[in-house]
Amino acid sequence: MTQFDTFIMVDWSGGNDRGPTPVKDAIWACVAATGQIGEPVYLRNRRVAETWIGDRLEAELAAGRRVCIGFDLPFGYPQGFANALVGSSNPFKVWDWLESRIHDHDDKNNRFDVAAKINAQFDGSGPFWGNGLKRDIDALPRTKQGYSNPFPDRRAVESLAKGSFTCWQLAGAGAVGSQVLMGLPVLGRLRRRFSADIAVWPFEALDAPIAVVEIWPSLFVGAGPEDMIKDAWQVQEVAQVLSELEPTALAKMLDVNAPEEGWILGVGHQAALQAGNLVPPPLRNDCFALPAGVNWAPVDAALALLRNRLAPVTQVERIPAAHASGRILATSVAAERANPPHPNSAVDGFGFAGMVTGGAHQLPLIEGRAAAGVPYTGEVPQGCAVRILTGATLPTGVDTVILEEDVTATKAMIAFNGPLRKGANARRAGEDVEAGDILFEAGRKLTPADVALLSISGVKNLRVRAPLRVAVLSTGDELAEAGGPISGGQIYDANRPMLLSMLTKLGYIPVDIGRVADDRAALSDRLDAAAEQADVILTSGGASSGDEDHVSALLEQAGAMALWRIAVKPGRPLALGLWGGKPVFGLPGNPVAAMVCTLIFARPAMGLLAGEGWHEPQGFDVPADFEKSKKPGRREYLRARIRGGKAQAFVSEGSGRISGLSWAEGLVELEDGALDIKVGDPVRYIPYASFGI
Ligand code: AMP
Ligand code: MG
Repeated sequence: MTQFDTFIMVDWSGGNDRGPTPVKDAIWACVAATGQIGEPVYLRNRRVAETWIGDRLEAELAAGRRVCIGFDLPFGYPQGFANALVGSSNPFKVWDWLESRIHDHDDKNNRFDVAAKINAQFDGSGPFWGNGLKRDIDALPRTKQGYSNPFPDRRAVESLAKGSFTCWQLAGAGAVGSQVLMGLPVLGRLRRRFSADIAVWPFEALDAPIAVVEIWPSLFVGAGPEDMIKDAWQVQEVAQVLSELEPTALAKMLDVNAPEEGWILGVGHQAALQAGNLVPPPLRNDCFALPAGVNWAPVDAALALLRNRLAPVTQVERIPAAHASGRILATSVAAERANPPHPNSAVDGFGFAGMVTGGAHQLPLIEGRAAAGVPYTGEVPQGCAVRILTGATLPTGVDTVILEEDVTATKAMIAFNGPLRKGANARRAGEDVEAGDILFEAGRKLTPADVALLSISGVKNLRVRAPLRVAVLSTGDELAEAGGPISGGQIYDANRPMLLSMLTKLGYIPVDIGRVADDRAALSDRLDAAAEQADVILTSGGASSGDEDHVSALLEQAGAMALWRIAVKPGRPLALGLWGGKPVFGLPGNPVAAMVCTLIFARPAMGLLAGEGWHEPQGFDVPADFEKSKKPGRREYLRARIRGGKAQAFVSEGSGRISGLSWAEGLVELEDGALDIKVGDPVRYIPYASFGI
């Protein structure tokens, strides 16, 4: 029975907060039922928390729901302790033992004294250590000096949970010992109170309506956004992830045997928990293989191949909607709330009910007014009017508003001329968005306007893709670092700064891997570094099949390379392959070809990898301001710009002319077939902005 209706996650605390402003080491809880994730609940101290939890569990039981409630504290101590303390390995005996001895008041509790008393039962130098009080306590070492522990330092599960703390440490940064001493008595009381309705994992079979489980949020949840309290963020994340987990996956996680020490839910299953199961599968080794017999691939065929073979590689994370501009949605998002939530006035004026016929009218004006955020709470009688301002909820009895400019008003009356239709100047509830409407689909790159829509629709947090990290590497013996020392035969590296800045514009994270000479071993090392740090690798130069074309040679050796001869100008072969599982786009060295190939091939491919889907750049048909005749067989891209409503092409098609890339503001795309373009003929112009640069 591991199907639950409600998940309540609690982040416990050993501290004592007086409120009212939430602080980070208070107790935080969050309730989630599939699809409905509550806001984190701030529980000022343990007594407030115990009351809140008890009430909540009562309500869940009354509603006939099954509940999984998680606490972030060990339910048992390391092996042997229970037996030594209470003469039984049954952890509940320890809970009861502590419950009868720990006294917890708003301003003080006796946890350090109880720990010292336990230590004294052994030889007084352990197992507990750390003292958060000013006064010294006999048999409670402040530090590990003179400390000795007759029991294991950790439970079996903690050896598998990297970064977890020992339950013996009572004070100091990150210590959890205090919250265990202060938490187990509360669990003991809950257990007694709900007796037959509660079962504690993994000590009991979970066949009661309430299951209590041990959690440790840091196992699979990060610290969250900077402006949010970590514990608040984490309980919400854990509640969401657990509530969205397949019951069979949860059942697997619950299947452990740890009758004395207990266990942390999810240890050994981190991958499934991380990002709620949405870790993308790796790309297939043959994802760039060309179909047999293809020698020169037309541009459209090459694009279709990329489109069919590539899939998102970025992980999913949850962030506040307010921070999501520029990010890519990983799931569709529905409105939590209608806009407007209530019918309201579109103007400043006077509200009343019903249609008004032509001719002069007078209505008595009732006292009071309705303003945005300050509603008129009474009812407006039929035949009366009320003062109303823009954005104010229509009071009961009002469905129509007349503009104040169209009215002569005294204190007691308004006079105006009809006609006016019923509903004039009023906005219907939900006329913009209804609660539950899908606002955006997965893959949407969110804009500032989207953030406004999400906010008004009550959407707090979103699942988005982690930004795509793209490594950039230049190859060639002739390259020197821009502005640096240079020898006669060398040129400055142009591609790397171009590609890095292009990636920033595209919203990806550029990873600069530097330059590398035409040396296979060095290149191989750099590719390793790139694969380690990025999701995609762009190289330039060395991508053909000549003696110094080491990129293609290495990818070939790695066994997952295809040299794509694409019928495109400007362009040389593209070397596509996988290095360390990461897709590599081996771009031509020539900067003009490198830029065009990036825009036409790498850009849409990166869009797919990033999770935003495949996007064709928007082009416009405009009259040509140039003449050109073109042979069939290749698609051509000209550096171009619009002047006087016509497309100009750069004077030279020579691919060495970098100045032409700057002169241009876009590309003219000439189809694969033969063309004889005269001035005024329509050509397809794609602005750089359509590519996102
Ligand atoms: P490759 O593709 O390595 O044969 O290089 C083709 C042409 O592009 C050669 O003239 C190179 O010098 C030039 N080239 C290669 N990489 C760059 C770069 N990063 N910046 C400027 N020019 C380059
Ligand atoms: Mg080269």
